[in-house]
Amino acid sequence: MCSTVVGKNIVTVAVQGCCHGELNSIYKSLNKHVDILIICGDFQALRNTRDLETISVPQKYKRMVDFHEYYKGKRQAPVLTIFIGGNHEASSYLKELKYGGWVAPNIYYLGEFGSVWYKGLQIGGLSGIFNRNTFYNNDIEDEILPYDVSAIRSVYHIKLKNFLKMYLMNHTMDICLSHDWPAYIFEHGDVHKLIKQKKHFKSDIENGSIGSPLNKFLLNYLRPRYWFSSHMHTRFEAIVNYDNEKSSWKQNVDEIELDMDDDEVEEVSNSNTSVGFESQLHIDENDGSRKSNNNQSGEELTSVRLKFPQDPLQTRFLALDKCLPKRKHIEFIDIEVNPNHLDHPSVKDKSGFYYSKRAVAINKVVEEYIINNRKSFEGIDCGRILRNPRTFGLVNILAKLVDEELKKLEALPNDTFKIDPDTFKIIAPPTGVNDVPLKYWENNQTIEYCKKFGVKYTGLKTTSTTSTAHSSSARGTSGTTYTTDTASTTNITNATSAASTTGSTDTSTQ
Ligand SMILES: [Zn+2]
Repeated sequence: MCSTVVGKNIVTVAVQGCCHGELNSIYKSLNKHVDILIICGDFQALRNTRDLETISVPQKYKRMVDFHEYYKGKRQAPVLTIFIGGNHEASSYLKELKYGGWVAPNIYYLGEFGSVWYKGLQIGGLSGIFNRNTFYNNDIEDEILPYDVSAIRSVYHIKLKNFLKMYLMNHTMDICLSHDWPAYIFEHGDVHKLIKQKKHFKSDIENGSIGSPLNKFLLNYLRPRYWFSSHMHTRFEAIVNYDNEKSSWKQNVDEIELDMDDDEVEEVSNSNTSVGFESQLHIDENDGSRKSNNNQSGEELTSVRLKFPQDPLQTRFLALDKCLPKRKHIEFIDIEVNPNHLDHPSVKDKSGFYYSKRAVAINKVVEEYIINNRKSFEGIDCGRILRNPRTFGLVNILAKLVDEELKKLEALPNDTFKIDPDTFKIIAPPTGVNDVPLKYWENNQTIEYCKKFGVKYTGLKTTSTTSTAHSSSARGTSGTTYTTDTASTTNITNATSAASTTGSTDTSTQ
């Protein structure tokens, strides 16, 4: 339970950097009471040895570590644990739960994009890391199993769709999570100390190639109170102060993917206070700085980010190390609940764990938009958006649809949004079972989420050579015949919206 200090509601949060499967050590280092543990990626939810074929790590690191014992119920997570994905993950399992869900009892994956409420704190996150090529490719199909050398990496790269979803989030988040750092965040902390700790960062800092340009934009645009990351395997803190001036948009050069080794770089390759908890609009319709409402062509929409009354004065950034002895991998932070959030149902509820309505609305709107406007979405100039995300005009169009959807969700009882702790099921076999096929295992939680909130359900694809499931087949461009577990996009009966558009689904493979 969160504590109350002289009228203040405090939630004690433990933040962990990379996990690398070391759950036993991480839980052992919780030497004080915490309400929730947040893990910033490289979680490695490996259920069985077959999952090792879906993780991108050097051969010497291909080992099961601890998670599988939590999966099969041999061990129990002692505290509610939530995490985002990084670049070393059991990627097929995370794909099966792309809208989030329990990977084991008491361990919740936020999804490729996701946001939840816990005891009055709104927590959002984006899984994966930035990679310029994958971002430019804007491939909207999920990777097919088994992963080839390209798919095993692109599966964890941040796609335009998920960046768009995060872009559509509100400005009242308490905590944002990303695996890789926001680019140029080092300018807001002790960069000299950072270079002293990690000498090989020097040239990357000098040429600005550390961190994600997408996260840099999102941090400055969403302005959460806290932003937590990992990936670089060192502790670094920074404070980003907001003076509401036009922020410079610096471009970084290329993705840096760190190997699991520390010192080895593997690859360089409106103002409105009366709105609800999650409803703050992104762009003030009456503001002269916006030039067009229906702009997808590249015209700059806003010259400055508008100030909202609830904006924090600063964002506190913290990156942590990986879990090794004598490393600064975990920290405990007492976070006061924003007084404006004290009426949120998660504050008084016993479990305190709720879906963000806005994130639900965003999933519904964006998935439906892409299905119905596939060609135009694929034709978006990702280079332009990377150069200046404020030219992403689709955000304006979809923000309106999200607000409409949000109104429908607001009419539903609060309990609709409680995250049920008992929906976890062992679906893929745990360790100890022989001859486990390499395939996507259709997850009950994903199906239930889509059904409950009217999100288009799109199945995941496995090639016939490795799958044991046969429901339909499609011909891939390479001439390979694929079997698909659930190849077509399905309109599942929708509890929250009246009309769901028929999906013009392209079931062909990549
Ligand atoms: Zn890591």
